[in-house]
Amino acid sequence: MSAATAAVEREADRLTELDAAIGDADHGTNMQRGFRAVCAVLEKEQPATPGAVLVLAGRQLISTVGGASGPLYGTLLRRAGKALGDDEAVGRAELRDALRAGADAVAQLGGAAPGDKTMLDALVPGVEALGESFAAAEAAASDGALATVPLQARKGRASYLGERSIGHQDPGATSSALLFATLAEVAEGTAEGTEGAAR
Ligand code: ADP
Ligand code: MG
Repeated sequence: MSAATAAVEREADRLTELDAAIGDADHGTNMQRGFRAVCAVLEKEQPATPGAVLVLAGRQLISTVGGASGPLYGTLLRRAGKALGDDEAVGRAELRDALRAGADAVAQLGGAAPGDKTMLDALVPGVEALGESFAAAEAAASDGALATVPLQARKGRASYLGERSIGHQDPGATSSALLFATLAEVAEGTAEGTEGAAR
């Protein structure tokens, strides 16, 4: 979560620029506000397990971010955290299953599916490739974000633009790819991350 916060700080301007093209120019600031609050609450409460970290982080995103992305990312993390339960150590396959449950919850909450030009276009392929390796998940999420460019938005604020949403990369898919890149970066050096990177 600290690495994610640092990545969001670094990329906030770019995320907001993408949102300026097909939304309301606040995705970077929304993510910044949310992840700063996540870092603050985690330092204060220091949850004992990975699952508890994700549940608390998700709850914090939901309560601090006004935009659509807050409840959606909050749901992703909260649901994934619940799926991890009380386990003290979490492996890549378990994380994949938990994030898959989280992505399903995002799809249900937002009524979107891959191809609608939303965060799900990066989340879903990223989660599936996590079955292979962290590096594969990073690449799949990044490809998924790039593949939103020619799509017409069918959900969220960008859908109000109709055909004018075509030709722009979705901000939420871009932040999802950023989060997978961060996960891969942090996982490198762990046993499973090294095994994944070697492929
Ligand atoms: P808002 O659209 O309320 O200003 P943000 O700008 O923070 O919120 O986030 C916009 C991003 O949220 C979009 O780029 C898209 O990826 C994602 N999003 C919006 N609506 C949905 C939805 N119904 N399902 C999944 N993702 C969505
Ligand atoms: Mg916005």
